[in-house]
Amino acid sequence: MKIVLIGGPGAGKGTQARILSKHYNITHVSTGDLLREQMELKTDLGAHITETMNEGSLVSDDLVTDLLRERLLRPDCKNGCIIDGYPRNLQQADILAETIAPDLNRTVYINVDDAIVIERMSGRESCAKCGQMYHTTYNPPKVKHTCDACGTALMQREDDKKSTVKNRLKIYHEMTKPIIEYYKKKNLLLEVNGVGDIHEITAFIINSLGK
Ligand code: AMP
Repeated sequence: MKIVLIGGPGAGKGTQARILSKHYNITHVSTGDLLREQMELKTDLGAHITETMNEGSLVSDDLVTDLLRERLLRPDCKNGCIIDGYPRNLQQADILAETIAPDLNRTVYINVDDAIVIERMSGRESCAKCGQMYHTTYNPPKVKHTCDACGTALMQREDDKKSTVKNRLKIYHEMTKPIIEYYKKKNLLLEVNGVGDIHEITAFIINSLGK
């Protein structure tokens, strides 16, 4: 099974991808995480990615496509995968269809209004070690600012800060939104209301995709 998750910043793609990957026993592949791994390497490339991400812009199609292509070749993707964060524009959608995942089963579009996104992002915290996401109000960890899964201190991502979020939303509307129509035409789109209880949203997706 190969699924793509689309949605604006803060739509809950990462959260849903993590739950769905466990349910379907397929690997969660996040292009944002692949890029953050590069940032950790402290190379010139890493510095370039950090700068691009912190201003809320997209990194180049070539760079992110190479990282994704290589990741999908690893053995843990043999059973299938859930791709979170790619495609983010029409060129990437074409690359995915032509070369990376011509066998894509479904695209899940998680729809959330901008005003809610801004509110969500301001309380979002994530674990730098295992990637688990939390929200200070809607999905708090058991111990304040501490990851339930691995005990690491939680932090706010630099690109979740308000000014960056506004730019990310602008880019999302300009570049990413057109791919919703693209997948609708291909009959691959499942649209989901991303506002509400996390587990109810997951249940809706699983009911629609099949157990
Ligand atoms: P995410 O973790 O999916 O919210 O992605 C964080 C940031 O990584 C984005 O704001 C972009 O700067 C970059 N990024 C992730 N995926 C892509 C992609 N498919 N194309 C270009 N940039 C990406």
